[in-house]
Amino acid sequence: MIHSTRRRFLKTTAALASFFSLNSLATKAKPVSAPIVISTWNFGKEANVEAWKVLAAKGRALDAVEQGVWVPEGDPKEMSVGLGGLPDRDGRVTLDACIMDEHANCGAVLCLEHIVHPISVARKVMEKTPHVILAGDGALQFALANGFKKENLLTPESEKAWKAWLKEAKYKPVANIENHDTIGMVALDSSQNLSGACTTSGMAYKMRGRVGDSPIIGAGLFVDNEVGAATSTGLGEEVIRICGSHLVVELMRQGNSPQEACEKAVKRIVKNQPEKSKEIQVGFLALGKNGDYGAYALQPGFTYAVYSNEIPNTIFKANSYYSG
Ligand code: ASP
Repeated sequence: MIHSTRRRFLKTTAALASFFSLNSLATKAKPVSAPIVISTWNFGKEANVEAWKVLAAKGRALDAVEQGVWVPEGDPKEMSVGLGGLPDRDGRVTLDACIMDEHANCGAVLCLEHIVHPISVARKVMEKTPHVILAGDGALQFALANGFKKENLLTPESEKAWKAWLKEAKYKPVANIENHDTIGMVALDSSQNLSGACTTSGMAYKMRGRVGDSPIIGAGLFVDNEVGAATSTGLGEEVIRICGSHLVVELMRQGNSPQEACEKAVKRIVKNQPEKSKEIQVGFLALGKNGDYGAYALQPGFTYAVYSNEIPNTIFKANSYYSG
């Protein structure tokens, strides 16, 4: 009798122990040692290569993310970031970018024209001014005063696409749900410091002056060096409504894994806008202070690239709230 009670007790504790260890495995996921860089979409893979050069040489995460996002910014074939970005409805390429470091220093440019690397102007705003955001002509004036070159960003391909759009000129910004859009990149360096960068030409054929989530600290990007970093892509208005990247980081602070935090942020969008969320794309990507990372999107198709000593620059598909 005593034996059988004890056996039952042992069985129950073993079952409970295995339940809890499985459960914690399921929620904890894959911490990876620093350094690590993660970034949105397939073009993140090429961007990661440049970021990794900085990280592998024990450089700062801040330099890594700036160098990384330079790749799509400078690539005329990428029609959603920097040079060659699709213009607004008036045919002007207007760029949005922000950057944030481990000390909560941050800088952003909104609706900046004629400059190929808005991320570096954002960094200058952070480092050379007492402000966080410069917008429009003021941002351009600041860039030119700081040695940036004025260039034409509208490539023949982007101009052609815009002229084709003009024939119908339907104002329904399309949130692309595959391999393009904004590059958001977050990194943890070998000194265990986090930084992030986010840069985009925004929604194609947007209203003049429209700014999305990407250059808004707390929406398109947020870094808290004690907890983690997050970035987003997709329909910026919906991300702004929930202060998306800040929400993801705060959910991580409350004990959620990066994966759980991204999922909860996406579900918040669904809860707020159940009908609209069926038709739009939003994706979050998050990196924890311990190298754990996660991603989640509304729709299938969101990909992200991870580069660390353990993970040789690999593209992953994010899980999504809606199935394909
Ligand atoms: N988030 C960007 C914006 O709303 C665009 C995108 O990532 O698709 O401007």
